Amino acid sequence: MESVKGTRVISVRTATDLVVLDEAGELIRRGELVVFPTETVYGLGGNALDPEAAAKIYAAKGRPSDNPLIVHVAKNEDIEPLVRAVPQVAVELMERLWPGPLTLVFPARSEVPRRTTGGLDTVAIRMPAHPVALAFIAAAGVPIAGPSANLSGRPSPTTAEHVIADLAGRVAMIIDAGQTGVGVESTVVDITVSPPQILRPGGTTLEELQTVVPEITVDPTTLADRPPALDRVRAPGMKYKHYAPRAEVIVVEGTPEKVAARVAVLYDEYEAAGRRVAIMATAENAASYGERTFAVVGSRQDLGTVAANLFDLLRRFDDQGIEVILAEGVDMVGLGLAVMNRLRKAAGYRIVKA
Ligand code: AMP
Ligand code: MG
Repeated sequence: MESVKGTRVISVRTATDLVVLDEAGELIRRGELVVFPTETVYGLGGNALDPEAAAKIYAAKGRPSDNPLIVHVAKNEDIEPLVRAVPQVAVELMERLWPGPLTLVFPARSEVPRRTTGGLDTVAIRMPAHPVALAFIAAAGVPIAGPSANLSGRPSPTTAEHVIADLAGRVAMIIDAGQTGVGVESTVVDITVSPPQILRPGGTTLEELQTVVPEITVDPTTLADRPPALDRVRAPGMKYKHYAPRAEVIVVEGTPEKVAARVAVLYDEYEAAGRRVAIMATAENAASYGERTFAVVGSRQDLGTVAANLFDLLRRFDDQGIEVILAEGVDMVGLGLAVMNRLRKAAGYRIVKA
């Protein structure tokens, strides 16, 4: 066991490490914070039914108090004490896509603290598809409020090292289970409206959701290539600056060939101006950048690879002292929807159309 600034860092490779998970559960019941791995990104966990634990989460992240927390459960029955109603469409989505990177917004019971829901009378719930997460929630015996375990505004953490960089000294324990698989956060779907609506694209794709709910809609502000009007945003978290590295990010969008050509020109201009610049490249275009500084984020043929490495690469460029990141845009299909939503926000909507 390691300790960084008073935070215990514990490595768990299997859900059978019950002693450690019992200790983590005990910390949660005592009102402490424990960072846990999920299949999407690491979560900053606290007892969702304890308003003081929720307040600690906001304080540890520096998160605005009107940005609600997602509540994590280990079994379908665990939602019953939290929600006022379970519409048929929710039953079907849970049946088909839980556990998984899908968060459902339900009407909340009054027992759910408004600290947890950011003052709303709805509550967002998901069941993560990660054996360690499920065992941790079960060991705690209470639903776990768990926003991404990063400082507010920073890229979400996909490794324990990212969590340590942001939260050491601010939480009691970090459970390290290696790099997360999906790499972008869950898809948030509001099932209190008819038809249901995607409030935030994420690890469950629109195409997958359409196989269960063909009439599902997407909040148009999440697809926009300019900042949304704040009064239009339906998931409160989507109004805030997000996912941003210290470096300036510019997204270059268009066909792969035009993107590669434009990125190279922009790179040379920034370099000539004395800036430290790097390219977030797709595998397909990497060869065209020659001697320029670049790192491959993933493949256009498998956008899951781009999602998995996106946040880690943003943080790595920061660690290398890069000042300007030129990021290739990808197609907004499958996981590309979540990738482009995150990239455009990381860029503060600085988009160049190639
Ligand atoms: P994070 O936990 O950092 O991944 O962010 C959670 C996201 O879910 C934010 O965009 C929140 O605004 C959104 N969210 C959580 N609860 C609700 C809710 N009750 N209604 C709408 N959006 C929600
Ligand atoms: Mg977050």
